[in-house]
Amino acid sequence: MTTFDYSLFVIGGGSGGVRAARITAGHGARVALCEESRLGGTCVIRGCVPKKLLMFASQFAEAFEDAAGYGWSVGETSFHWPDLVAAKEREISRLEGVYRRLLESAGVEVFDGRGQLLDAHTVEVGGRRIRAERILIAVGGRPSRLEIPGSEHAIVSDDAFDLPELPQRVLIIGGGYIAVEFAGIFNGLGAEVEVNYRKERVLRGFDEDVRRVVEAGMQGRGIAFRYGSVPESIELEPDGRRRVHFDDGENAVYDQVMFATGRHPYTGELGLEQAGVETTASGAVVVNDYSRTTAPNIHAVGDVTDRVALTPVALMEGHAFADTVYGGMDRPCDHANIPAAVFSQPPASSVGLTEAEAHARGTSIRVYRSEFTPMRYTLAGRDEKALMKLLVEDDSDRVIGLHVVGPDAAEIVQGFAVAVRAGLTKADFDRTLGIHPTSAEELVTLRQPVAAATG
Ligand code: FAD
Repeated sequence: MTTFDYSLFVIGGGSGGVRAARITAGHGARVALCEESRLGGTCVIRGCVPKKLLMFASQFAEAFEDAAGYGWSVGETSFHWPDLVAAKEREISRLEGVYRRLLESAGVEVFDGRGQLLDAHTVEVGGRRIRAERILIAVGGRPSRLEIPGSEHAIVSDDAFDLPELPQRVLIIGGGYIAVEFAGIFNGLGAEVEVNYRKERVLRGFDEDVRRVVEAGMQGRGIAFRYGSVPESIELEPDGRRRVHFDDGENAVYDQVMFATGRHPYTGELGLEQAGVETTASGAVVVNDYSRTTAPNIHAVGDVTDRVALTPVALMEGHAFADTVYGGMDRPCDHANIPAAVFSQPPASSVGLTEAEAHARGTSIRVYRSEFTPMRYTLAGRDEKALMKLLVEDDSDRVIGLHVVGPDAAEIVQGFAVAVRAGLTKADFDRTLGIHPTSAEELVTLRQPVAAATG
């Protein structure tokens, strides 16, 4: 009879792996987990958490600027980057400790080291071979770099959190959410920021109105956009700055250049082939709705599966796996109506379909939209617009898309996501009273559709 050291061995101590390990142990199974870097993974150590702390830091600039309109005179201000990096480090170290204690108190054994599959039941960590009945791959992703001469002179998001000093002039290459978020952070902290993207307009995949209003807001805050070109090479200047040559013949010099050019699954040299686990051309682990891979006893959750690369999604996938396999429940993963936010400045948040997606599905919709100056900007004299937008399916009257740009966008959409998920109708929204005066009340007081469209 085959004996195993553990019922479940988890490779990767990030959002998905830690959740799955804890819930599985709670269902009574013997569980171990290995982590090659720091417990907490991308979200806690080099993603959501430190990013939002830096964003909070960068927002003080707006508050100082706007204060005068409210009668305040703010004296001379100064900012010390190393203090922020040190404070951020203290907080993520605290959270790392919380994660370790959570695992230990759930009875999960933690191995500090890199795990590699030797076969479908054996993982090697630091020279030790561990046998498990089931294995969960939760190794996440890594930032991608452009393959151009001099790419080693550029940083990626992992590096941006611990730079020794704040760059004065930054080029951010890419148009996704990480690019625009870091553009807002560096800009708010006082750097001159340029965003370079090969297409027109950032945030591809978001609703066109969201993209337009976010871009206008960023421009209004002094962020420059260099569209329609790609970097061909990066040279290190004698003074340590970086000269970037673009494919349209132009070149410019920056203190730092950051690639925000996407992320890829971190599956290299993991031993997936020996274990019979298939991957896509981009290296993502192929899974079914229950996160099961092509090897029957191996599952995979989170960014490594390249479904929707967000922390709550990795948590949901890890939890659903544990409940299904160890808790006797039937919990397929459900990726519909995932709310998402971009912590740009101005911020944006959405749930449900974009207008383009609704048209592409041939759904006949009514579009309700309001663009206005948020009240807090009136006395401040800030000329920046907020956006509230609803997409309503004609046949059912259900709200199938909801989009917000402006202060507190993510906090607003988190609440409304329940309504969209529950399939509430425009009539339900109309019956709901607003909270006055707020920006979000617009979402329950939109009366006239701006466009009647049929797909
Ligand atoms: P990860 O959290 O990446 O965890 C994988 C872990 O596995 C890592 O700790 C890694 O060290 C470890 N590992 C890898 N290989 C091995 C191995 N062979 N052996 C042992 N350990 C290994 N999501 C949001 O929802 N909201 C946000 O605001 C947000 N902001 C982000 C900002 C940035 C800059 C980035 C990069 C990401 C952000 N994300 C955000 C995405 C989010 O961080 C990820 O979706 C989430 O962390 C995925 O969890 P995961 O468990 O799949 O992988």
